[in-house]
Amino acid sequence: MFDVKKVRQDFPVLQRQVYGKPLVYLDNAATSQKPNSVIQALVEYYEGYNANVHRGVHALSMEATDRYEEARAKVARFIGAPEPETIIWTRNTTEGMNLIANAWAPDNIGPGDEIVVTRMEHHSNLVPWQKLVQERGAVLRFLPLAADGDLDLEDVDTIINPRTKLLSIVHMSNSIGTITPVKELAAKARAVGAAVAVDGAQSVPHMPVNVTDLDCDFLAFSGHKMLGPTGIGALYVKRDVLERMEPFLRGGEMVLEVTYESASWNDLPMRFEAGTPNIADSIALGAAVDYLEGLGMENVRQHERQMTRYALDAFKELEEVDVFGPDDADRRGGIIPFHHPEVHPHDLGTALDRQGIAIRTGHHCTMPLMGELGVTATGRASFYVYNSEDEIDLLVDGVREALRYFTHGPG
Ligand code: PMP
Repeated sequence: MFDVKKVRQDFPVLQRQVYGKPLVYLDNAATSQKPNSVIQALVEYYEGYNANVHRGVHALSMEATDRYEEARAKVARFIGAPEPETIIWTRNTTEGMNLIANAWAPDNIGPGDEIVVTRMEHHSNLVPWQKLVQERGAVLRFLPLAADGDLDLEDVDTIINPRTKLLSIVHMSNSIGTITPVKELAAKARAVGAAVAVDGAQSVPHMPVNVTDLDCDFLAFSGHKMLGPTGIGALYVKRDVLERMEPFLRGGEMVLEVTYESASWNDLPMRFEAGTPNIADSIALGAAVDYLEGLGMENVRQHERQMTRYALDAFKELEEVDVFGPDDADRRGGIIPFHHPEVHPHDLGTALDRQGIAIRTGHHCTMPLMGELGVTATGRASFYVYNSEDEIDLLVDGVREALRYFTHGPG
């Protein structure tokens, strides 16, 4: 295991105060903080070798290209992808899911075909499919949730059936923390000839994820949730699927030869990366991967499992507060959504902020799921490698104090 106190020293923002109190940053499911090595990778690029990639014959361009492609190889290795060419840079998970919906789905999903998602998808793995099924005359089907926030798999063999062409599923829910059995569901999808897409926005940063082991066709994730910069993410696509996919965006870089009438496509993965890419942030994401590998992803998961167990116990002390999601830390990530029947989450979040504690409040881009839970919003604390049990104590004390204030008034 790693030493949280030592880890914290690598994150400059964690040294700051908010309203005169030490910052307790518990909004990691929204975005993570950045270690010095990631910030330094950005500075080094802009100070030392800023140039466009894949184009120049000059030293700076070659250096930038090498570092940029090295970062792609690091990301590929991190998720167990067999080759760097199967990693397409995107802006974030949302762009990855939209790329699948726009570049793969129109050629593979037709009238009467079915797409299966769960009832806890983030909007980015729901809204693109709503448009696609409308346009293609296809059908969107849902895996339901059990009362404890796990998937209810009783009818799974009816829901995933020979009409299923795509299973697109969240790996770890950003709203209730549930870890879904992606590997088992992927095997069921494969058995009926369907493709498998995984929303790894919350899983890739927090636990070991291996695309070869999962046997998925697509995995989308965001750099900013895994200690990397905003504006960079990646989409893994299985090689044979990628080779048969039409390019999404068209223009420079993605072509081999162009005449006034037509064009032919560049090699993978450039075929899917039209225009000047996000060079600096890709390289810095490579530095984030180095940092996480230095800690070890098994250790990251173990630390967060321990934090989650501690938090689930601590929240039991708060009367009338509901905590959603599985009650077993082995089946969920470090995400604690909570709700009090009389106090709005925004009020709780604002009160905690005055104590220097940052949480997220709202629907967390899962509006339909909020309906299933019978609420319009929750407070959500989410953990990462630099959080400690002391911070959970501060959170629980802060919630207790705020609830007393809002339910009994000051004094
Ligand atoms: N899916 C899940 C499960 C998420 O948690 C998020 C981010 N909250 C997304 C997708 C979208 O990620 P991004 O905003 O980086 O595109």
